[in-house]
Amino acid sequence: MNCLECATRFQRETTAVSTCSQCGAASCVEHTSVGKATVAEHSPGIPSSLPLPGRRLFCPVCAPENAESLR
Ligand SMILES: [Zn+2]
Ligand SMILES: [Zn+2]
Repeated sequence: MNCLECATRFQRETTAVSTCSQCGAASCVEHTSVGKATVAEHSPGIPSSLPLPGRRLFCPVCAPENAESLR
């Protein structure tokens, strides 16, 4: 599978290393970021979010602010 970002934006074929955990797009090393999934915690008073165990891989479109680039 090839990187969707590379194929659609740069018209080049790059081997994908991951699929986005949100939209399922395939991404190459350059276009993949790794972060944590969070779940909303509804406690009285303070709304917060808890990180879920494990990692999630994201394409550039879906990457949350706290995601880190692989490169
Ligand atoms: Zn790419
Ligand atoms: Zn995505």
